[in-house]
Amino acid sequence: MKIFKFGGASINSAERFINTGNIIESYKGEKILIVISALGKTTNALEEIVQMFFKREKENALSHFNKLKEYHTEILRRLTEDSFKDAINQLNEFFTEIEWLLNDNPVRNYDYYYDQIVCCGELMSSSILFHHLNEKKINCTWMDVRDIIRTDNNFRDASIDWNFTENRIKESISPLFNHHDIIITQGFIGSTDENESTTLGREGSDYSAAIFANLLDADSVTIWKDVDAVMSADPKKYPDASIIHALSYSEVIEMAYYGAQVIHPKTIKPLQNKNIPLLVKSFLNKDLEGTIISKNTIKNLPPIIVHKGNQVLIKFKSKDFSFVEDRPVQQLHETFNQVKIKPNLSQHTAISLLCCFDDHPEKINQLASLAENIFNVEVEKNLTLLTIRHYNKEVVDKLTGEAIILLEQKTTETIQLVMR
Ligand code: ASP
Ligand code: MG
Repeated sequence: MKIFKFGGASINSAERFINTGNIIESYKGEKILIVISALGKTTNALEEIVQMFFKREKENALSHFNKLKEYHTEILRRLTEDSFKDAINQLNEFFTEIEWLLNDNPVRNYDYYYDQIVCCGELMSSSILFHHLNEKKINCTWMDVRDIIRTDNNFRDASIDWNFTENRIKESISPLFNHHDIIITQGFIGSTDENESTTLGREGSDYSAAIFANLLDADSVTIWKDVDAVMSADPKKYPDASIIHALSYSEVIEMAYYGAQVIHPKTIKPLQNKNIPLLVKSFLNKDLEGTIISKNTIKNLPPIIVHKGNQVLIKFKSKDFSFVEDRPVQQLHETFNQVKIKPNLSQHTAISLLCCFDDHPEKINQLASLAENIFNVEVEKNLTLLTIRHYNKEVVDKLTGEAIILLEQKTTETIQLVMR
């Protein structure tokens, strides 16, 4: 049994749906569980709707939701003929649920509403794919993942209840595969024991695929993307970027941790734990080799470059010359938790601590003002964090060029530089 994950770009139009349907059809005779994201940029659009709802701009929220409804309905219309009526009935159920909610006023916290609203992106996209495959006479079924993946109620970043989910998967998936070749379900979402919808963090569909793979002991996971394979750098920024056909779990988990946009960082552990290979393949050309990620150590990797723009460097300097390792640093870490921000890099000297963060302006302001109680705080914005795995002097010189280096950290394998 295989797991496939299709991201938003593979289903952002009727043509792309047809292409995705053709890929699935080419695996005829195999048992495949398909995890799907929301269409194109639907999650972003839903996020905006949540903000409008929370600001009590009801009309605005409803009219934006209407645009999403039209977008989905139009695609569905182009993909179905005989089954359009059944299909639109299912979509209408999701639409109604959201509209019902949007017509109310918010009484609970933001993150709760975020999950109740945003989850409909994946419900709608998976439903469209199901009806499209049905129309193509592919033997498939649709499953609401919220009946299977149980999480806690940490909305927007929910944690999996592995025991409950394992039992549900075991009792429900095998019987479905007895009757169907393909099971279509949603990535990114789950549900609490009180049937409230939850989400697993942005880009979380990769992680959903890995959860299913782990609990079903799948043969492999394939993530279908709009790139030929994993590359050593973002080719839009670095024209020298090269394709890498094989990577180890540890290499990829490091790359993802440093911010490479290859795969959601949580995806690797469930696969590594069961030794399940992860394939990254192009949905634009399914016959390309792609990349295989497995336990095998790969030698002679090229320098792998991760570029993060929009960084902020904060210098926390002890006010009275006391050493920073003591109580003040502990307090600072408590403040990070409170503000829900994590440094991408940190380094301390005797009396100061330097931390580099993604620039979330509100969080940065909050952090700076809280930290001012204990430290002198200096903030510098508009910086770049460059990470190079398997670096050599030549690449470092080439990529740093004329830039001013504000902070450098290295191990034998990885160098990280904060640059102005
Ligand atoms: N649709 C969600 C997002 O855009 C989840 C995913 O695509 O993995 O973040
Ligand atoms: Mg996506």
